[in-house]
Formats: sequence, structure tokens, C-alpha cells
Amino acid sequence: MSKPGFDFTFAHVVELSHPIHEGIPCWPGDPRVEFAVVASFAREGYRLRRFSLGEHTATHLHAPAAFHPEGATIDTYPASSLVVPAVVVDVRPRAAAEPDYAVTLGDLEAWESSHGQFPAGVVVLLLTGWQDRWDDPPAFLNQDAAGRLHFPGFGLEAARWLLTERRVAGLGTDAPGIDPGLDTAFSVNRLVLEKPRIVLENLTNLDRIPATGATLIIGILRLVGGSGSPACVFAVFDKGGFLRCPLRWRKFASKRSPISSKRNATSCRG
Ligand SMILES: [Zn+2]
Repeated sequence: MSKPGFDFTFAHVVELSHPIHEGIPCWPGDPRVEFAVVASFAREGYRLRRFSLGEHTATHLHAPAAFHPEGATIDTYPASSLVVPAVVVDVRPRAAAEPDYAVTLGDLEAWESSHGQFPAGVVVLLLTGWQDRWDDPPAFLNQDAAGRLHFPGFGLEAARWLLTERRVAGLGTDAPGIDPGLDTAFSVNRLVLEKPRIVLENLTNLDRIPATGATLIIGILRLVGGSGSPACVFAVFDKGGFLRCPLRWRKFASKRSPISSKRNATSCRG
């Protein structure tokens, strides 16, 4: 993707990562988050802790190596690929009514009728409302007696359409996974990660960023050989638009998006 010049100024920063502690939700079978005191003021005169967690725990990014044996590892992602425009698709009403909801092509077409075409190179973030369950791990994972997880995600057809017809850079969600919980084959993850693309899970504050016009700054731990990494994700927006703002998108934004005329986060919500 070409990188036209840009004006990197912004009015708002929203953090999209959850704080990390031992009580956060963990995927069944994944290691628990652990902290251990290694040095203390009383003993060593300073404080230091060791921590451990899975590569796919907390707010995190997947790399192709998570689902493809020869896939790229997280340490190979160029920095430029981790600063990327984003749009938000809000499916909260549908997800509240149907926890196993899988986003359809119809949902994406409805989004486009309000916001215009998904620009190439964006990360499509799904706002399911699951972010509000984070502090209640059983509700977040929503596991039934048979061990099945019930949370919403992208349907495979919708994901394929975004990748092939709109050439998006990746997918993200405030839920535990971009695949609906019932898809134990991780079909959408496997599809998206056929190339080194962006997969972000366990995001939060997606209701606080505009439907269009935000840029993500994704901080990873550059774990050599890593299948993914916990991530610190910031969204910046307003005054400057996309970092990789294609000309046609600027044109579109000035015509269709309230961002060009309003200056606060609330007004940007689409
Ligand atoms: Zn994950």
C-alpha cells in the first residue's frame, strides 16, 4: 500500500487495551496470568516482579504462526504495519439478542450504506458489547456445561468478503475471539492469517472511538518466534485523519463523515 504524506496531529487518544492482572479472563486451557515478587524494598531496596501469561492472553495480536505451521511470527511484523487506520462496526443489539451471532455480509452492506465503502488497508473492529463483561470472566467467556463458548464474531463469508473485496488489513473485536465462540476450528483466524495481517482480540473502549477516522497504534512485545503478543493499542483520531489517508478517503471523509466538521469524540460516533 502506498504511503502518501500525512499530517500526524490528533485531538483524542483512547486506550483499547485492558489492564493486566491475575484475575482477567483466560481462554480455557491457556496459562493463567501470574505475577511473582522477585525483589522488594525490604530485601533488595527496590521492587521488581516477574510475570507470565500466554501469547494470546489479555488484549493481544495473533500472528500467522498461531494457526499456520510455516506462518510468520510476531517479531517479523514491520513497525509500519502496526500503525493502521480502523473502522468500527457496532453489532451490540444483535449480539445482545444472540450471543453466538456471526456477522453477515448484510451487516457489512448496512454499514457501508451509512459510512461508505470500507477503505482498503483498514482494520475492521467489531463492537459486540463483550467489553462490558471483561470484569466478569465467566460472563466474558460464556462457557456452557458442555464446555462450548458463546460469544459473537465475524462470519466466515463476511470475513472473506472484507479480505478479498475490500482488501482490509485485518479484523479486531472486543470479544474473546474474531471467530464466534462456537467455531472451534478458528476458521476466520486461519483465513485472515494466511498472510501477516492484523488480528486483535479482547479490545475495549470500542464505543469511545468513531466509526470511521481513527488510527490504531499497536504496541507489541517483539517476542522472537512468537505466535502473537499481548498488545497495548491506542486509537488516535480527529485533526489529521488517517495516517495512511488515501486521497479518495479524504474526499469521502469530507463529504460523508461528521469528523471533518466536528471536533469531539462524541460527535464522531457514527
Ligand atoms: Zn486470541
